[in-house]
Amino acid sequence: MDLGIKGKKAIVCAGSKGLGFGCAEALAQAGVDLVLNARSSGPLEAAAEQLRALGVSVTPVACDITTEGGRAQVLEAAGQVDILVNNAGGPPPGMWHDWERDDFIKALDANMLTPIMMMKAVLPGMMDRGWGRVVNITSQSVKAPIAVLGLSNSARAGLTGYVAGTARQVAGAGVTVNNMLPGIHATDRAVALDGGVVQAQGITMEEAKAQRCAVIPAGRYGTAEEFGAMCAFLCSQHAGYIVGQNILLDGGGVNATL
Ligand code: NAP
Repeated sequence: MDLGIKGKKAIVCAGSKGLGFGCAEALAQAGVDLVLNARSSGPLEAAAEQLRALGVSVTPVACDITTEGGRAQVLEAAGQVDILVNNAGGPPPGMWHDWERDDFIKALDANMLTPIMMMKAVLPGMMDRGWGRVVNITSQSVKAPIAVLGLSNSARAGLTGYVAGTARQVAGAGVTVNNMLPGIHATDRAVALDGGVVQAQGITMEEAKAQRCAVIPAGRYGTAEEFGAMCAFLCSQHAGYIVGQNILLDGGGVNATL
């Protein structure tokens, strides 16, 4: 399917690895030029090189997207953008009594206020030009809480509320804003969370992974490639009528009718 976005320009935040990279790769396959961000320049340059081989221009910007300075750097490098994929690392796991105010502020900064500030920066230009796509990577924890990820549950719920209203304020200008909710995907983050299960239960990594797979009807972790394909579709010409939605990609893990 021709996604109809060849020649458009996208910012992909936190995109040198994992789900962000999956989105960047699928957009590059659709002919979208990229401004690619992550903190560590080595993996970022390697990812940019891999994506350039797909025939698009890739501008790497090595900085922390959760800081004001980092966001300014990315936005300056990008100039006029048509597509924004918001992403950042997820907060650490723990128990409800572990977290102090500063922990919440950090999580809110990374997983709620950073994507909101990025949207505030790019939405006016998209609306002026009558076309734009924003995809926020959130989590299945928005639909069904993951108890040990209380910081994530809280911050992403806030972002989801903001998007629900904002998406409807900008849709009339040809701009769509949607969220993608990953269930467990085979990325570094999933390995880190498997490690948490290993520590908590004193089992092996293989046992931890098998335990987590057992509650996924698809019987496996998702891949960054299939996640990226959905992102590229949401950014395509065909998705102009999808507004303010929360698209769950979880292999059926969240046991809910809607
Ligand atoms: P990942 O494999 O660990 O990749 C994270 C990527 O983000 C890397 O490129 C990393 O590069 C970059 N990054 C992290 N923090 C950053 C920051 N502050 N500024 C700029 N770049 C940053 O993670 P993932 O699995 O793709 O997860 C992506 C998001 O989805 C996370 O918020 C995660 O919590 C959420 N999620 C993931 C899963 C899953 O199963 N994988 C499930 C639910 C939700 P640098 O380290 O070099 O910055």
